[in-house]
Amino acid sequence: MEKLLPRFLEYVTIDTQSDPYSKTTPSTEKQWDLAKKLVLELHQIGMQEVSIDENAYIMATLPSNTDKKVPIIGFISHFDTSPDFTAKNVKPQVVKNYDGKDIMLNKGKNIVLSPDYFEDLHQYKGQTLITTDGTTLLGADDKAGIAEIITAMEYLVQHPEIKHGEIRIAFTPDEEIGRGAHKFDVKKFGAAWAYTMDGSQMGELEFENFNAASAKIQIEGKSVHPGYAKNKMVNAIGIANEFLGLLPSREVPECTTDREGFFHVHRIKGEIEKAEIELIIRDHDEGHFEARKQLLQDITEKLQKKYGDYITLRIEDQYRNMHEKIVPVFHIVEIAQEAMESVGVEPIVKPIRGGTDGSQLSFMGLPCPNIFAGGHNFHGKYEYIPLESMQKAVEVIVKICELTAVQIK
Ligand SMILES: [Zn+2]
Repeated sequence: MEKLLPRFLEYVTIDTQSDPYSKTTPSTEKQWDLAKKLVLELHQIGMQEVSIDENAYIMATLPSNTDKKVPIIGFISHFDTSPDFTAKNVKPQVVKNYDGKDIMLNKGKNIVLSPDYFEDLHQYKGQTLITTDGTTLLGADDKAGIAEIITAMEYLVQHPEIKHGEIRIAFTPDEEIGRGAHKFDVKKFGAAWAYTMDGSQMGELEFENFNAASAKIQIEGKSVHPGYAKNKMVNAIGIANEFLGLLPSREVPECTTDREGFFHVHRIKGEIEKAEIELIIRDHDEGHFEARKQLLQDITEKLQKKYGDYITLRIEDQYRNMHEKIVPVFHIVEIAQEAMESVGVEPIVKPIRGGTDGSQLSFMGLPCPNIFAGGHNFHGKYEYIPLESMQKAVEVIVKICELTAVQIK
């Protein structure tokens, strides 16, 4: 367990930011830097069948040490970090015995991590926190998951008295751009089920996520001298504005919670001749999700009627709610729940307001709930993680391996 922190600190200093505009896998060359290191490390701790394919998907096996017939289970995390915030020159800071007060992340820039704003901090008084220096994200999402899985596997290698079936682990690129599962070879992985270690705070256990789609609206305009534009000019910016005005103004990320869905406009660019809107649609409920897509269609048609065919809509499905794939194999959630309780972690079961590798994998035939990795405030400079939560995640992984061998007949 003592290697957990140094492992994590090493991984986060390697920049592995993914890039949604890249067509390659991994989406960025630099993801190989960490991937190659992880392969070496898996060999070093005594894992078997360590492999990395041409897309940088890493897999490895911890062989069974029992004569009992136990299903093969897996643990998965991703090594890329979000394109939302820079991961260049991450300088993690270790705050020991946190005093419960403001943490100065960066004196020069006066960037403070404060429990007045981030109230979750209160519960970590006395613990060891790992934070950023205020200029980058941390990358606990999901390098914490990787450090935890490797540390748990090392622990099981060193403690053969803990009986378990065959354990498979996998580390993937490009999860943050929604492609972590795209080239995941479920057959080669060969597990009956798996867990992604990619949740947030300690106790999180998730098997419901959003249905997700992205949409791009392209608007063509006609530029004419403004002095002579009457009945001639078509201003693409104006139409884009009208489109946005027809979306429900309260159904946005900043006004919704729990199972409430939303539209999230995240990019707009425009000139008179051409405007483009990019947005995402999220909803746990399949029916509501389809209705949201239909609304975009309706708005598009309405504006087409008004202005002619200057406007096009393209919707792309991204991932689906894994709930329906998990319910028929619900014992896999119960094992995780019991594992948490037996190491003193209270399970927090809640729907994910996002997606994980696990949602796609579940639809590819590998049921895959999500378990906490321990971090907070992902994808930004206020990201932090308590070491104690990471240690509990390691214990949970070990316990799941143990319980699966005990309980499954
Ligand atoms: Zn993640």
